Parts: sequence; structure tokens; C-alpha cells
Amino acid sequence: MEKKIAVFPGSFDPITIGHVDLVKRALPLFDEIIVAVGINSTKKYLFPLEQRLEWLYQVFQKEPRIKVDSFQNLTAHYCQRIGARYLLRGLRNASDFDYEKTISQLNHIVGGGIETVFLIAQPEYSHISSTIVREIIVGGADATPFIPKEITIPG
Ligand code: ADP
Repeated sequence: MEKKIAVFPGSFDPITIGHVDLVKRALPLFDEIIVAVGINSTKKYLFPLEQRLEWLYQVFQKEPRIKVDSFQNLTAHYCQRIGARYLLRGLRNASDFDYEKTISQLNHIVGGGIETVFLIAQPEYSHISSTIVREIIVGGADATPFIPKEITIPG
């Protein structure tokens, strides 16, 4: 039978314990999950791509069914290229839903039937976002409660 591959796309700037929880919960649903950093040349990131990828490797290296990668241009085309028929996304609140609904419908068309699988964030993680973590870091506060224990934020 065809391998069930899901792509979990994002910026992971930086990866948070919310992302990790989502991937772990989704693992029983798929044969393989590819955590993929989307490269958007018009977007400004706090951490360079190499650093974000390095953190993803550190966090997921012990699980052989989780792979790490990066891609340019459309997520749907990346999925087709690597033979992934599923996208994984998390829903924290209603604004996530509004945004994700449109993207999911577009990806279904552009990606020739790609299905997005959504998991609702666990209550203890639903307040965590990379945006908030970046603000904490830039503001000089301690971000360790929000990031996986395997990684260290420089500075
Ligand atoms: P983007 O570049 O799209 O903003 P992010 O790296 O912020 O991507 O997030 C990627 C995915 O992870 C999104 O589907 C988002 O909903 C999900 N996510 C982020 N934080 C959490 C969390 N705390 N709990 C569950 N899902 C989350």
C-alpha cells in the first residue's frame, strides 16, 4: 500500500513546544511526517534558515518516521514533488481557522486533491506561537518554557 506521507509546513521561527506536540500527536495517523520549512523570500525571519533547520533536526532526530526538509515556492507543489498527499496543520483559535480554511481549499485545487488534516491545539499549548516566542526573545526575556528542551536559543 502507498505510504501515507504528511507535510507539516511552517516557518518554525523558532520551533515551539506547540509544534512538537502537534507532530507527536499526528504521528499515529501517518507513516511519515516531513516537517518542512517554507522559504518565502519576501518574509523577514528572526533566525536564519540553517539555524531553524538545525533545531528541527535536533528535536526530531530520534524519531525515524519524522523527516526535516525545506522548500521554496508553493507548498502544494512541494507535496506533489515528494509524493505527500496530506498536509498537517494546527488550529489554536478562530483566526487560525479562518486563515487555514482558505489555504486548505486552495491547496486542494492546486495540489490535485491534497487533503489538509487539522489537529486542534491542546489547551496547555494553544496560547503558544512563534510570534509570541520571538517577542519574548527580542524583549530579552526567557523563552525556555516555550521551546523544546533539545534546543538552545543563542544570546
Ligand atoms: P506559519 O509560518 O504558517 O506562521 P508556524 O511555524 O507559525 O507557521 O506554524 C506552523 C503550524 O503549526 C500552523 O499550522 C500552526 O497552526 C501550528 N501551530 C503553531 N503553534 C501551535 C500550537 N501551539 N499548537 C498547535 N499547533 C500550532
